[in-house]
Amino acid sequence: IKKTGILEFVTSDLKMEDIGGLENLKRWLAKRNKSWLDSAREYGLPAPKGVLITGVPGGGKSLISKAISSMWHLPLLRLDMGKIFSGIVGSSEENMRKAIYTAEAIAPSILWIDEIEKGFSGLNGSGDSGTSSRIFGQFLTWMQEKTAPVFVIATANNISGLPPELMRKGRFDEIFFVDLPTLRERKEILHVHLKKRLTSPRVTGAFNITDEVLQRLADLCDGFVGAEIEQLVIDALFEAYANDRPVLYEDFERAIQNTVPLSITQAEQIRSIREWA
Ligand code: ATP
Repeated sequence: IKKTGILEFVTSDLKMEDIGGLENLKRWLAKRNKSWLDSAREYGLPAPKGVLITGVPGGGKSLISKAISSMWHLPLLRLDMGKIFSGIVGSSEENMRKAIYTAEAIAPSILWIDEIEKGFSGLNGSGDSGTSSRIFGQFLTWMQEKTAPVFVIATANNISGLPPELMRKGRFDEIFFVDLPTLRERKEILHVHLKKRLTSPRVTGAFNITDEVLQRLADLCDGFVGAEIEQLVIDALFEAYANDRPVLYEDFERAIQNTVPLSITQAEQIRSIREWA
């Protein structure tokens, strides 16, 4: 299961400060530290189950999963839902069983189910009798009954096809939607990536990361997701490197002009998913 990449340990020292925006998630997490997993019972709280994070591709869902694990100092086990279905009868259930078993064996831990929609989309409840449906049943039962401190983070680009049972109250503690970043969030994301990369005075030259510069660039990035903002910073720096000179404000402007963000149709789709969610 490990060799196939279905299940892997992810190590990361990512911090919340390395992530721009996602304020609602950060606020929710700020009230919950690692000990909350253990002390829930002592405080008469229901055992923490996990969160479902959905929204735009490249918006930071993977980042936040990694940041939670390093914030709580807990091992992060990533289950790739796209790969779980092996085609061999019984193996997919076995894969899910092993993932749960491993997460419980190393608890307290985090089980990150990436692209959960790839496994459970299109199921229509208990009447369904395929492999996906058996795994879904297995997963729901475990979510309902689990007592080991395993926090589940399920991430999905699209939840519109997921069975409603998964989203019912009591399955996940919270469902978060990662939207296209606002102007303020784009400023934050730009700041994260500029600060991270502009470390050499030879490259930085006269370029200053001022609030005004961030504001102007972020304004031009309307409709960009975090991954696209990171890419434009890389493109601008590459331009400077290729010309063997420090980076200029104009390099960022040009990189923005050359970026094709999520198309209008995708943005439309995302909006309708959000309304649905
Ligand atoms: P996908 O669903 O396509 O896997 P995702 O939502 O999981 O996308 P990430 O993989 O977390 O997105 O983001 C891709 C890259 O984009 C990250 O490695 C990071 O560098 C950058 N990025 C995305 N969102 C943010 C953000 N909010 N703050 C800072 N960087 C971001």
